[in-house]
Amino acid sequence: MSENPELTEQQKQYLAGFAVGSGLNAPAPRQVESQGEIRSEGESEPIGPDAIHVRAQDRFTASGKKLVKEEKAKREKNPLDMGDEIARRAEAGEFPSGTDVFLMKSIGLFYVAPAQDAYMCRLRLAAGLIDARQMRGVADLAERHGGGYSHVTTRANLQIREIPAASGPEVLTGLADLGILNRGAGADNIRNVTASPTAGIDPRELYDTRELAKRMHHTILWNRWMYNLPRKFNVAFDGGGTVSALAETNDVGFAAVGVDESEATDEVPAGVYFRLQLGGITGHGDFAADAGLLLAPEECVPVARAVIEVFVEHGDRTDRGKARLKYLLDAWGRDAFVKEACERLDFAPRFFPLERCAERPEPDPWAHVGVHPQRDEAKRYLGVVLPVGRMEAEQMRALAAIAERFGSGTLRLTCWQNVIVSDVDADAVADAKVAIEAAGLTTDAHGVRAGLVACTGNGGCKFSACDTKGHARAVADHVEQRLELDTPVNIHLTGCPNSCAQHHIGDIGLLGTKVDPSGGADDDAEEVEGYRVLVGGGHGTEAGLGRELFAAVTADELPELVEQMIRQYLEHRNDASQTFRDFARERDVDTLAALFSRRAETAGG
Ligand code: SF4
Repeated sequence: MSENPELTEQQKQYLAGFAVGSGLNAPAPRQVESQGEIRSEGESEPIGPDAIHVRAQDRFTASGKKLVKEEKAKREKNPLDMGDEIARRAEAGEFPSGTDVFLMKSIGLFYVAPAQDAYMCRLRLAAGLIDARQMRGVADLAERHGGGYSHVTTRANLQIREIPAASGPEVLTGLADLGILNRGAGADNIRNVTASPTAGIDPRELYDTRELAKRMHHTILWNRWMYNLPRKFNVAFDGGGTVSALAETNDVGFAAVGVDESEATDEVPAGVYFRLQLGGITGHGDFAADAGLLLAPEECVPVARAVIEVFVEHGDRTDRGKARLKYLLDAWGRDAFVKEACERLDFAPRFFPLERCAERPEPDPWAHVGVHPQRDEAKRYLGVVLPVGRMEAEQMRALAAIAERFGSGTLRLTCWQNVIVSDVDADAVADAKVAIEAAGLTTDAHGVRAGLVACTGNGGCKFSACDTKGHARAVADHVEQRLELDTPVNIHLTGCPNSCAQHHIGDIGLLGTKVDPSGGADDDAEEVEGYRVLVGGGHGTEAGLGRELFAAVTADELPELVEQMIRQYLEHRNDASQTFRDFARERDVDTLAALFSRRAETAGG
């Protein structure tokens, strides 16, 4: 093994002990060689926690189909057994190559070349909750081993970027020391479990979803069979509060509902329950659909587990494009899938029509930013705007200090890429806002920046056609100097069809693409970064996919176009209560294109 001359003695000692102490190498020595060979002596059946995957793969190959390379890689080497290898690579100062790049995402380390010759480390924060001590510790790790900043993701999570090869293990164990266990943060695993960002403090919520998200989080950590799924998998719990958890955009969403006395029966007493929603994947044009079940809160995690088990056994292992839960539901039909999942439960869940449940109130699209009341009338929560989710290490420390000094020490990340400081005494709000501004941040909700969501973009993701975060900032800078908003307009920028920033549900959705700036007039024109423009997307009670309005707008044209779109909306809306979404939905594509008059061709043009 080659020695890396850049490693310090301390790093070498550290790495030598890493493989022993990390726990990443723990159990299953018989499974290291090849999971395909995991069979008990004299038996033909696979055994152990990975057997469920091996059997599923075997069914596909027995039917004459070929496993995709990711399935073969997972079968040959479980990513959870890569501790020695990771330590060796770090010692040699090497990044992974080939399918190892994919496998290492399972333990939260993403080698993101060519966008950056570095790791990105994604955390796991159940319900998006992080305490002040942890935030400070993550800031230290980001400064010591990364670029000195973090990004809040659209799954209410954090990412540290620009981590050199030698530092991968130190970041992982540093997180573990902070109580942040990020196994399964990427690749074919169950991603960060989200919950309503204002859970437990929301005056309007039906149910505090924090405990459910934590229970799900730990169920995943404790069950090795819940890793290496056919594809990634998202689970969310929405307590029916003011800020949406976007449950309907998840593979499995649980949405709290009430059943009133007028609809109650002996089997279904009046109270708060959860609706199971299945198959959300807006990048593939689908929201999660109601599965017909009404669940007591304590039934949610067992049901999620049963759904995942069916997905593990039957999800496609031969076509990555068809390996998400949606496609299994499409193939089987919802009822057959639900029946199969229910047969794995040791209780009989209730089927109860959605129409007989009380209507859920629409979330407030601006309640994740600004100052808002809590259930405890003496307290307030402060939603802090982060510029497209970025926090410098100093700002992370400042927010930790603010949460400790003015709140309960808890910070809540949201899928809107911002952070909430909760439990602030009402009479301390002014001082807390001063402290937030001193950190270079704001709680000001009255700008386009408050509703801006952008994926990583080509600054850190090789799939991106565009610098989404840079373009998002350019749009905000341009529009905020020219327009005053009295109502929220959410703008979602995503760099590729993977749709991490969920462009389909934005009032204005922007999907990165390469654009011919000459509009086809010049054969020699070089393509530039640009966007397809969608309008009228929504979520929650207003869930709906955006319609494409313009097929090719250059990034340079974008700020003026967005200004024009919002300006026309403000001038022509029925009144201040009409949202941009409803304004757009009321009109056809041609009418909107003419109204927002611009040079580029319209969709399909
Ligand atoms: Fe990367 Fe595409 Fe996700 Fe953006 S949407 S972060 S470009 S994978």
